[in-house]
Amino acid sequence: VDIALIDCTSFYVSCERVFDPSLRGKAVVVLSSNDGCVVARSAEAKAVPVAMGVPLFEIRDLVDSGRVLALSSNYTLYGDLSARVMTLLAGYGSAQEIYSIDECFLNVSDSSDPVATMAEARARVLHDLGIPTKAGIGPTKTLAKLASEIAKDQANGVFKMPPPGPALAEVLARLPVAEVWGFGPAYQTVFAGWGVATALDAARLPLSQMRQRFGVVGERIVRELRGERCLALDLHPAPKQTLTVSRSFGEQVETLADLRAAVAVFAERAAMKLRRIRRTASAMTVWVSANRFDPSAPDCSGSVTRAFPVPTALTPEILHQADAAVRQLWRPGGRWKKAGVLMLGLTDAATQQTTFPDPIDRPRTARLMAAIDAANERHGRTMIRSAAAGLSSRWKPLANRCSARFTTQWDEVLGVR
Ligand SMILES: [Mg+2]
Repeated sequence: VDIALIDCTSFYVSCERVFDPSLRGKAVVVLSSNDGCVVARSAEAKAVPVAMGVPLFEIRDLVDSGRVLALSSNYTLYGDLSARVMTLLAGYGSAQEIYSIDECFLNVSDSSDPVATMAEARARVLHDLGIPTKAGIGPTKTLAKLASEIAKDQANGVFKMPPPGPALAEVLARLPVAEVWGFGPAYQTVFAGWGVATALDAARLPLSQMRQRFGVVGERIVRELRGERCLALDLHPAPKQTLTVSRSFGEQVETLADLRAAVAVFAERAAMKLRRIRRTASAMTVWVSANRFDPSAPDCSGSVTRAFPVPTALTPEILHQADAAVRQLWRPGGRWKKAGVLMLGLTDAATQQTTFPDPIDRPRTARLMAAIDAANERHGRTMIRSAAAGLSSRWKPLANRCSARFTTQWDEVLGVR
């Protein structure tokens, strides 16, 4: 079995370059629109260096002097180009798993020369869409993903892992264990104590030791590193790429407080739904619709899309962005009849990548979310809700059977950025 992982290079930046070729060869970063931190960097920007996740104010001098170009994110464009890339790539394998907005796995076992097939696929995507990619090939998803890290240094942009044996061991010995897919910060701390530094060190860990410390999930990664296939391509049901929560208001909404409260309820529900299907969102669109049956109502329909610094399913983070979006959409004198939130670029929550300094204590917040989800499951879904959703007494969700309650932890988690 040969599995390929194709990864678009600096995807958001590459999308911007498609429509503005003057950006080519320059240090370009894309910012999350609200917080103004860097969510994507061109190779030139990495070389400056600009770190992933830094707030705009920290690189102000570089931007003002013109050494680095900073762009706002255009998530609609990225989503559209992503769909085109994925459609093109689907033709180069017998099965495809769209893993994130800019990555997919392909089963290329049917190809007599997978390296040539991937080189052809890369050329096609570059020619037809202008998006550069790199491709890793291996007998398992974990090895394919690792191979894609090496691929960026190859002339043809493709790297195929050798079959299990001394040659594979040699490759793994050169790769830091932190580059292995799925070995997050929790693993790295333990690995440091175990003296595990390279991917090869990890591949040689006793399976029983891994299982004892990290359960079957950790054991599986080690098996995959050895070339033993444990993770199947996630084909059916097709991974959900979007999730939406929307509703018409029982009563026309006219005040900012009511609009904020309504959207907060949708955002909170969307976050809960995401956690239930164990996925995280890369971005969110908040939209509001004017009351079109009221001819005197001003045109106050619109939508705002915001990217998250890292994919998230955490209620406080989602509420924070939703609220910022509502404030942007708010028009004095507006009258709204409907609103909704659309979560975009969904990825697998279990393999979340958090590679840069993160202002949010994600494990701790995730535990809090799990506790709230469990309580809501037991007592009805709105038993515990965030303060934002309870701000307004005028707008009431239809299914609200319990009074709103403050949960107190939000500000602590939110206040950092
Ligand atoms: Mg990428």
